[in-house]
Amino acid sequence: MKNPDTQLYINGQWRPSGSGRTLHVINPATEEPIGTVAHADMADLDEALAAAERGFKTWSAVPPYERSKVMRKAAELLRERLDAIARIMTAEQGKVLAEAKIETATAADIIEWFAEEGRRSYGRVIPARLPGVYQMALKEPVGPVAAFTPWNFPINQAVRKLSAALAAGCSMIVKAPEETPGSPAELIRAFADAGLPDGVINLVYGVPSEISEYLIPHPIIRKVSFTGSTKVGKDLAAMAGRHMKRVTMELGGHAPVIVFDDADVESAANIMVAAKFRNAGQVCISPTRFLVQEGVYDKFVRHFVEGAKAIKVGNGLDADSRMGALANDRRVAAIESMVQDAIGSGGQLKTGGSRIGNKGYFFEPTVVTNVPKSARAMNDEPFGPLALISPFAKFDEAVEEANRLPYGLASYSFTKSAKTAAAIGAAVDAGMMSINSFALALTETPFGGVRESGYGSEGGIEGMEAYLNTKFITQTGV
Ligand code: NAD
Repeated sequence: MKNPDTQLYINGQWRPSGSGRTLHVINPATEEPIGTVAHADMADLDEALAAAERGFKTWSAVPPYERSKVMRKAAELLRERLDAIARIMTAEQGKVLAEAKIETATAADIIEWFAEEGRRSYGRVIPARLPGVYQMALKEPVGPVAAFTPWNFPINQAVRKLSAALAAGCSMIVKAPEETPGSPAELIRAFADAGLPDGVINLVYGVPSEISEYLIPHPIIRKVSFTGSTKVGKDLAAMAGRHMKRVTMELGGHAPVIVFDDADVESAANIMVAAKFRNAGQVCISPTRFLVQEGVYDKFVRHFVEGAKAIKVGNGLDADSRMGALANDRRVAAIESMVQDAIGSGGQLKTGGSRIGNKGYFFEPTVVTNVPKSARAMNDEPFGPLALISPFAKFDEAVEEANRLPYGLASYSFTKSAKTAAAIGAAVDAGMMSINSFALALTETPFGGVRESGYGSEGGIEGMEAYLNTKFITQTGV
């Protein structure tokens, strides 16, 4: 099956790049080329910048009530087109179709939520020290935004930035992922077909570093939002800092999962197997370091391993597949070498550990226990289907391990004690903690990290704030 070839979207026009250059798009389940994506050159970027500048003038003047109508229409179109869009995503990214459908449906919810929230971006009136003085804090859109989104959630990573920015009245240039370009293009098509004015959204692909190095310093761009690895995020944040641009950074994680003796162990294992192997573990909030209290350690490992073994791995388009191919060959090589290193350092392989077949980027759901802290997998984000389980004795020991790494994105805990739940929520140094569930990344709740996992938030009202400036006006004697 071939996917539609993906074009650039600049100033309301779908078009090839000026130079006509394209890149191949590969299906990770078959390794076959399934389409192409247009490769923007500098002249294309200049056009996108000029369009975004004009688009900002137009869109920021549209009242939030009217913006919300266009956004709701885009959500409706996305829902109508859901099946076709999900198939494009699965063919390019590898995830199973059910997950691609959920991602597309969730995108529609996100658009609607921000469409409404944009109507509530209130300022405030601050009591003055003197009579006849009015002090106001007003919210204004930051301006044209450059957004860089990755391949693991091709629509979701883009829609969270786009919806908040559009609701706030910003325009945007999205540099979407070259490896999975088709479904984010469909997201943008929904907005275009819903009547978004020309120039408000512009979509480009190309060489990521060339595009970021051109857009971030450019005076037209006022805000940068990036989702990807910590390493790249630090470079982009440094560049944005040199040009005093506002930044949101959603970077890597290495989420600890702390399971206490009093937890419902079977339920914890079931919830965490589903969470770990979703999108083959290529998720920034993927649970990774499982720390299980000694009293329930064996039981947890047994249930978790059973769950991992039961997952049917196959082409994401096949109805009975529960985990698809990894998105690219880099992930296969990375997981293979991390698993070998973990076992070589003394970890015990409980299931999986190998690539499946020699066609397509399939890898077994893998569980390794008792991996020493010095092993690579215990320090670098695996970003693949690898779970690392270790026992602990005391609360403080689990907290020390949870906080050992410089990351601080997601964390999880399982306990029936309200006291332990409150204590662990406070003790773990992370932007998010989910207790007795996998319930992060909801539209209306904040989503973001601390420390080397970045800064800023993409969900909830904090997600809107990221695209708003506060202007203070004081008015006397009128
Ligand atoms: P990578 O680190 O080169 O790229 C990660 C993402 O950043 C990609 O989308 C890429 O297009 C983009 N990127 C890279 N260099 C850039 C630049 N100079 N300017 C703008 N964008 C740039 O490598 P990769 O192999 O694609 O992914 C490897 C690692 O990235 C993973 O192991 C994972 O840790 C991380 N990652 C994180 C997320 C996330 O959701 N936080 C998503 C994808 C990848």
